[in-house]
Amino acid sequence: MEIAANIQRLYDELPAGIRIVAVTKTRTTGEVMELYNAGHRVMGENRVQELLAKREELPGDIEWHMVGHLQTNKVKYIAPFVSLIHSVDSQKLMRTVSKEALKNKRVIDVLLQVHIADEETKFGFSEEEVTGFAEGFSAAVYPGARLRGLMGMATFTPDTGKVRSEFIKLASIFRNLQNILGSEAEAFDELSMGMSDDYRVAVGEGSTLVRIGSLIFGERE
Ligand SMILES: *Cc1c(COP(=O)(O)O)cnc(C)c1O
Repeated sequence: MEIAANIQRLYDELPAGIRIVAVTKTRTTGEVMELYNAGHRVMGENRVQELLAKREELPGDIEWHMVGHLQTNKVKYIAPFVSLIHSVDSQKLMRTVSKEALKNKRVIDVLLQVHIADEETKFGFSEEEVTGFAEGFSAAVYPGARLRGLMGMATFTPDTGKVRSEFIKLASIFRNLQNILGSEAEAFDELSMGMSDDYRVAVGEGSTLVRIGSLIFGERE
């Protein structure tokens, strides 16, 4: 009951056009089924192993997103079905996604992850790197990967001003890349930012995809 009420509250609150990726990491099949039965179909995982296990146990019409760090040698396991990879953080990974997608006769949507937080441990391109990548970008080099936008995570801090300034930064990089890429990226229109603690700030700064776990399923153990 709780899970259904939680997702409904988010649907009611968020403006149309903003999609919710329900992050199911550490949740049981039963918990995810509660969300599924409430009508939600877009789910995200941050580990390949858990993504594969969940996909096997759960209904086939769930749209699965990969939101966590992805190693090139694991792309092949998710390439047959993944809907959107939020966490492409190198050209090498982008090449691998394209190659594995083509093996499955698919084109996979991807976001480039940009490092906007203070924390050292978070993955992603720097602003300079992602700008350079966009300047040299040719869609023909990645026939199996469709570049759809950017993803970023703000610093884990109660300082809303700091979080906001990081999301403003990411949104500005996003618009700059839209200009640089022009027609080279046919639909560069997704900005994945915002989690349970900061999605309101993210939505205020132009997010199109929020990745939400605890606010739907409760605090993680
Ligand atoms: C866990 C996770 C989330 C969701 O976190 P909550 O704080 O539970 O909403 C979002 N994005 C990524 C990449 C995650 O790993």
